[in-house]
Amino acid sequence: MARVTFDGLGKVYPGGVRAVAGVDLEVEDGEFVVLVGPSGCGKSTTLRMVAGLEEITEGTLSIGERVVNEVAGKDRDIAMVFQNYALYPHLTVRQNMAFPLERRRAHGGWLDRLVTGRGQEAREEDRQIEAEVTHAAEVLGITDLLDRKPGALSGGQRQRVAVGRALVRRPAAFLFDEPLSNLDAKLRVEMRAELKALHERLGATMLYVTHDQEEAMTLGDRLVVMDGGEVQQCASPREVYEAPANRFVAGFVGTPSMNFLEGTFADGTLRVGEAAVPLNFDGLASDGRAVLGVRPDRLRMGDASDAFLLDAEVIGLEDLGDRCDVRLGIAGAEFIARRPASELARWGAGSSVQVTFDVSEGHLFEPGPHGRRLS
Ligand code: ADP
Repeated sequence: MARVTFDGLGKVYPGGVRAVAGVDLEVEDGEFVVLVGPSGCGKSTTLRMVAGLEEITEGTLSIGERVVNEVAGKDRDIAMVFQNYALYPHLTVRQNMAFPLERRRAHGGWLDRLVTGRGQEAREEDRQIEAEVTHAAEVLGITDLLDRKPGALSGGQRQRVAVGRALVRRPAAFLFDEPLSNLDAKLRVEMRAELKALHERLGATMLYVTHDQEEAMTLGDRLVVMDGGEVQQCASPREVYEAPANRFVAGFVGTPSMNFLEGTFADGTLRVGEAAVPLNFDGLASDGRAVLGVRPDRLRMGDASDAFLLDAEVIGLEDLGDRCDVRLGIAGAEFIARRPASELARWGAGSSVQVTFDVSEGHLFEPGPHGRRLS
């Protein structure tokens, strides 16, 4: 296993699209790092540069101590698992899994053996390959599928075979490109847990790409949140959630998304329309425009005993079974409050309510879609 180091890594495609810019990142030996962000943010391009499938146009990439910018993908000692599995349909599971090892064997297959007469070495290699495949199949629980062809497997089983094919190579690092996105929701959650367990068992370096923030939160030791080809934040899932670096990260992580409300900040208070929200952020924000952020599950319906109240109109309600989402209009912005299901009957669309939240749960950002978090 090895560490993977990005130093100012960037990619400008022919034609001039700057897909990735100035990525600095150190993936530690044995770490599970997830690149996450919306479609087009540059995460696949980043991963493909590590895999050697895309030329690096700026910066350097090292695997272990070796700079690999000019090293062909097949010589980088990495294994990639693709979204579409990329299994050979005419080969059995066993042959699919053995394929990367067959390709790099020194003493050839049966034909070579006949010609070169190096039968014994080749048979030893056969045994090693068989042992690797058997071991990987056991680890992934697919021993009974080894003689089937991919066409006779479910999506989840194919995904396991694709992982198995990476596993047999014992690479310095594993790369995953949205490997679960073709699976249905339930299977995705199951496979997520399996991958996490596999990582813990192998202690392998893993770099994983997804657009799904929930998948990223549950899998990663660390998340690299990207937008517009740049790293917005690189931190543990907890830190990304609790202390988002900027408004983009705050809005991207968490379901439903954080609510935002722009107002004028002065003397520790944010004024939004008639309401004054005493934020106690003295000394952090300069006076002027600022954006308040509060997560849907932190909003509650207020009463006279609260420090401040925001006037809101109920736009609609969504019944989620064990809870409900109340859509609110507040000073021209749309908010969602996630509330207990028992409140479903209490609010009707069109009714006026007053909401509040614990000031310590609020965040303040500079204006703009990537406004820095001030508190
Ligand atoms: P993501 O994986 O986050 O969806 P990509 O890395 O695929 O994003 O793409 C990042 C940006 O680079 C996008 O603007 C995309 O349109 C552009 N892009 C991707 N591949 C190519 C290519 N082969 N040629 C030109 N532009 C590309």
